[in-house]
Amino acid sequence: MTTDVAIVGYGPVGQLLAILLGQRGWRVRVVERWPESYPLPRAVHFDHEIGRVLQSAGVAEALAGLTVAAPIYEWRNARGQTLIRFGRDTERSLSGWPESNMFCQPELERILDERVGSLPSIRVERGCEAVGLRSGGAGVALDLRRADGRTRELRARFVVGCDGANSFVREHIGSGWHDLGFHFDWLVVDVLPEDPRWEGPLNWQLCDPARPTTLVSGGPGRRRFEFMRLPHETLDELNSEAAAWRLLAPWKVDPGNAKLERHAVYTFRARWADAWRNGRALIAGDAAHQMPPFAGQGMCAGMRDAANLAWKLDLVLRGLASDLLLDSYMTERATHVSAMIQLSIELGRIICVAEPEEAAARDARMIGEARQRGAPVDARLPPLGPGCFAAGALAAGQLFPQDVVRHGGATGRFDDVVGGGFVLASPAGDPSAALDPERAAWFASLGGVTAHVSPGAPTDDVNGGYARWFETHGAAVVLQRPDGYVFGSAPRLEDAGALVGALRERLSRRQARSAASGSAAATSSSHKY
Ligand SMILES: Cc1cc2nc3c(=O)[nH]c(=O)nc-3n(C[C@H](O)[C@H](O)[C@H](O)COP(=O)(O)OP(=O)(O)OC[C@H]3O[C@@H](n4cnc5c(N)ncnc54)[C@H](O)[C@@H]3O)c2cc1C
Repeated sequence: MTTDVAIVGYGPVGQLLAILLGQRGWRVRVVERWPESYPLPRAVHFDHEIGRVLQSAGVAEALAGLTVAAPIYEWRNARGQTLIRFGRDTERSLSGWPESNMFCQPELERILDERVGSLPSIRVERGCEAVGLRSGGAGVALDLRRADGRTRELRARFVVGCDGANSFVREHIGSGWHDLGFHFDWLVVDVLPEDPRWEGPLNWQLCDPARPTTLVSGGPGRRRFEFMRLPHETLDELNSEAAAWRLLAPWKVDPGNAKLERHAVYTFRARWADAWRNGRALIAGDAAHQMPPFAGQGMCAGMRDAANLAWKLDLVLRGLASDLLLDSYMTERATHVSAMIQLSIELGRIICVAEPEEAAARDARMIGEARQRGAPVDARLPPLGPGCFAAGALAAGQLFPQDVVRHGGATGRFDDVVGGGFVLASPAGDPSAALDPERAAWFASLGGVTAHVSPGAPTDDVNGGYARWFETHGAAVVLQRPDGYVFGSAPRLEDAGALVGALRERLSRRQARSAASGSAAATSSSHKY
C-alpha cells in the first residue's frame, strides 16, 4: 500500500512533521536508523514562535514544568564588562509564549514521541535505514534496510528527509551546500548540579580569549557549558572527561557537587542546502541547514520548516493546491534561515576570538556601543522570503500575533480557544459578512475560521494585543496562514473577500510566476525572537 508521506529520520523535526501531518489525518510512515532516540542534550533553547508551533502539535501541557523562561542573554568580556545584552520578555511575546525557553532536547523528543504514539495514522519504524530512493511522477519508492540486513520497499506520495546533517535524501535531491565557511570546535558539557540554583545570569557568554565559554541553562535542573578549542589544542586534548572537569573547576562545579551528564566536541558549521525539493522529495531541518548554536536557533529553524511544509503538503495532498505551492517552501524558508545563520555567525564572531589583541579591540568597540545604546538589544526574527503571500500586501510574511482572548465562554490563547489554521480576523466586524457565499464556502473547505477580534467583541481581545497590531499596521482585516504568518492584510473590512480571492488564486496557480510575487521580504519588518 502506498503511504501518503514517508519521513526519513525521527529527530525533533521528523517527529514534529509527522505530528502535524498525522493530526490532519494523513498516513505517515517514519523510518529511523537507530533503535533508540539520541540520548544526549543538544538544543537547549526555543523561542516564542516555536512555543506556538509546539502548542499546535498538542504538546503544550506536556511541556509545562520542563522549560525555564530566560529573561536576559548577556555577553561579557574577561573583565566582566557587558559587551551586549539581549532582552527577553518572560511573560508576553508576539506568539503568546515566553520569548526564550530553556529545555532539554531528549525530554522534548520524548514528549513528541508520546504525541506521535497517540495519533493512529502514524507508524514509526526504528532500526530501519533508508538506503535507496527513486522518484516517479506519482510517488517515490524508498529502499529500507533493517538492522538484521532484511530489505524492503516503501512507496509514498511524498518523502521528506528529516535525516540530519549527513542527509541521504539531500544527496538524492542532488543539492550542494551554500557554505559560509565558519567552523569552530567546541567542547559541550552538560551537568546536573546537586543544587540547581545558579548565581549570575541564567544565560551568558564569557568572551575571554583565554577560553571563550558559554554558560546557559539546560532546562530545569541542568546547566550547559561550552568551551571553545584554542588554536594550540588538539581535539583529543579537549575531548575527555578529565578536560571537562578541569574546565568546569573555575565555575565551582566538581564531581563532589555535580553529575557529568555528557561531554562531546562538536564542530559548528554555517551552511544551507541550495535545493530543498526535487519533485516529490523534500528535505527539512539539519538536512537543509546547519548553524552555530549562539542564537539557539538550529532546531527552531527545522521546526519552522516542518510548520511551513505541513500545511502546504496537506493542501497539495487534498487537491486544494497545485504542487507548485511546494516551491514556495524553500523560497520562504531559505531566506529566513540564511538570516538566522548570519545572526549566529555575527554572534560567533564576537565570542570565537582567541587573540588577546583582537579581543581588546572588540571590547573597546562593543563596550562603547553598549553604553550608547543603554537598553538591552531586541534581536529580531526575520520575515519569510518570497512565496505564498498576497502580492504587495502589508505585513505579508510577518508573524501574526497569538494573544489571550475570551470566546464562546472560554478564555485562553487564540489558537486553543478559536482555532489555528487559516484565520480571517478583523477588529472592525465579522469578516465572514464580507465574503460572498462562494468564497465563504471555499474558505470553509480549507478549514478556515473567521473572528471579529476586539476588546468587548465576540472574540474579546483581553489584553488589547490584536488592537495594537491592527493599529500599528494600519490594517482592518488580516488573513493568517496555518503556520502563523500573515498571508496578507488590508485597510478595510470589505477587502476580506479580495484577500480570500488572492489566496485561492495563489493556491491554484500552476505556472512559475509564484516565487517572485508576494515578496514578503519587500513588505515586512521583523519580529523579536
Ligand atoms: C551542542 C549543540 C547545541 C545546540 N543548541 C541548540 C539550541 O539551543 N536551540 C536550537 O534550536 N538548536 C540547537 N542545536 C541544534 C539542534 O540540536 C539540531 O538542529 C536538531 O537536533 C536537528 O534536528 P533534526 O531532526 O533536523 O536532525 P537530527 O536530530 O540530527 O535527526 C536526524 C535523524 O535522522 C536519522 N537518519 C539519518 N539518516 C537516516 C537514514 N538514511 N535512514 C533512517 N534514519 C536516518 C538519524 O539517525 C537521526 O535520528 C544545537 C546543536 C548542538 C550540537
